Amino acid sequence: MAIRDYAQEFINRGGIFRDIADRKETLWINDKYLPFEMVDAVTELVVSDDDIADAARRLERFAPYIRKCFPETEADNGLIESPLEEIASMRDTLAAEYSADIPGRFFLKMDSHLAIAGSVKARGGIYEVLKHAEDLALEAGMITEDDNYERFADDDMKEFFGRYTVQVGSTGNLGLSIGIMSAFLGFKVKVHMSADARQWKKDLLRSKGVEVIEYEDDYSKAVLEGRRDSDMDPSSYFVDDEYSVPLFLGYAVAAGRLKGQLEAKGITVDKDHPMIVYVPCGVGGAPGGVCYGLKRVFKDNVHVFFCEPTLYPSVLLGMATDMHNAVNVNDFGLNEMSEADGLACASPSGFVTRIDRNLVSGDFTVEDGRLYDFMRSLKETEDILIEPSSCAAFIGPVTLTKSEAGRGYLSAHGLTEDKLNDCIQICWATGGRLVPDEIWDKYMNTHITY
Ligand SMILES: *Cc1c(COP(=O)(O)O)cnc(C)c1O
Repeated sequence: MAIRDYAQEFINRGGIFRDIADRKETLWINDKYLPFEMVDAVTELVVSDDDIADAARRLERFAPYIRKCFPETEADNGLIESPLEEIASMRDTLAAEYSADIPGRFFLKMDSHLAIAGSVKARGGIYEVLKHAEDLALEAGMITEDDNYERFADDDMKEFFGRYTVQVGSTGNLGLSIGIMSAFLGFKVKVHMSADARQWKKDLLRSKGVEVIEYEDDYSKAVLEGRRDSDMDPSSYFVDDEYSVPLFLGYAVAAGRLKGQLEAKGITVDKDHPMIVYVPCGVGGAPGGVCYGLKRVFKDNVHVFFCEPTLYPSVLLGMATDMHNAVNVNDFGLNEMSEADGLACASPSGFVTRIDRNLVSGDFTVEDGRLYDFMRSLKETEDILIEPSSCAAFIGPVTLTKSEAGRGYLSAHGLTEDKLNDCIQICWATGGRLVPDEIWDKYMNTHITY
C-alpha cells in the first residue's frame, strides 16, 4: 500500500514518524503534556468527577443483579473488579533479560481476569450495556432506581429486552463483553468482527446465541458497517468504541477502585512516591478512560503510558500528528496483520486522542514477537497467563529508564533516582481469562523473530 502524501511529510521530519514507518520500536513522549490542574482549568474537561461517580453508583445499583447471575463476583459483592498482584520475580527476570533497571515495586493489575468477559472490556463494555438496559427499563416504567436490581433477572425483563438489539464492532474482546452481557439480559445481539479477530472468540459468542458478522477488513470497517446496520433499525443500539462516553466512564471507574486497593495494601502515592502505569492500547477507549480516571484521582503523581504494536500505533499517530481520528496507520505504509488482535486498530478514537491529549505521558510501541516472550516469562515467573495483546504493557518498564526519550521524561518531571526507588510501577493486564486451553498451547509455542 502506498504511503499517503500527508504521512510522507511527517515521515520526512524523521524521529518518531520515521521509526513508525520503519516498524521500529519507539517511545513517543507527549509534547503537549501539562500539569493536571492546568488541563482542567484550560480545557474544561468534558467528563467530570461527578460523571465518574455517577457511573460508579450505577455499577453499585447493578451489583445485586451481577452477583446473583455471576457467582464468580461473589467475593467482590457483585462488583466486577480485579486483583492488584505484586510480580517481583517477573521484574527480576525482565531486568535480567533486557538489562533494564526497573526501580520501585512492580505490580500487575489483573483486568485479564475480570469476571464475565475476561478482559478490561468488562469495565467499559458491560457498563455501557447495563446503562442502556437501565435507561430502557426506567423509561418503560419497569423499574425505579430504588428497586433491587435483581429484578433484571426476571423473565418479563428478559422478554422486554428481547424487543431490542445491541450491536458493536470489535476486534474480539469488546464483542465478548458486549455480547455476553447483552445476551444474558435478553437483548438480541450482533457483533461485527474485524479480520484480526480470533476464531475462538467468534465461536464463544455464537455459543451464547450472538450473531457474529465477519469482515475481511480491519476494525474501522467493522465499526463502520455495524454503525450503519444499527442506525437503520430504531430498536437497535450501537456501542460505538470510537466515540462512546459511557464506555469511557466505565473504564474511568477503575481509578477510584485502584486507589482503594493501594490504600488497603498500605501503599502511598504522592509527590515522593510516584506511580507509573502502562496500559496496552488499541483504539484508545480502555487505556484512555483508565488514564483519565487515574489523572483525576492521582493528578501529577501518576504517569500513564500507552503501549501499542509497532504495526498499529494509531493513538500515537492521532496525537503526535494532532489529526486525531483522521489518521490511519495504513497511510504510513503499515498494513500487515498483527498478532496483537486486541490492539489492531488502524484509526484511533478521536474522543480519546483529544480528551487525553494533555494527560498521557507518552506511548511505547512493541514488536509482536516480543509479546509472546513476555507472555512466557510471566507464566514461568508468576504462573499467570495473560493473552499476547495484554503483554504489550511490559515494553514500558523495560524501556523507560533505558531509552533516551524515557530518561528525558524522567528528568523533566523531577523523577530522580530516590523518587523512582520509592515508586510503584503497574502493568495493566488487559485480557486472558477466557482463552481456551488449546489456544494457550498454541500461544506458548509461538516464536516470532524480531
Ligand atoms: C481492547 C483491548 C485493549 C485496548 O483497549 P482499546 O479500547 O481498544 O484501546 C487492550 N488489551 C486487550 C486485551 C484488549 O482486548
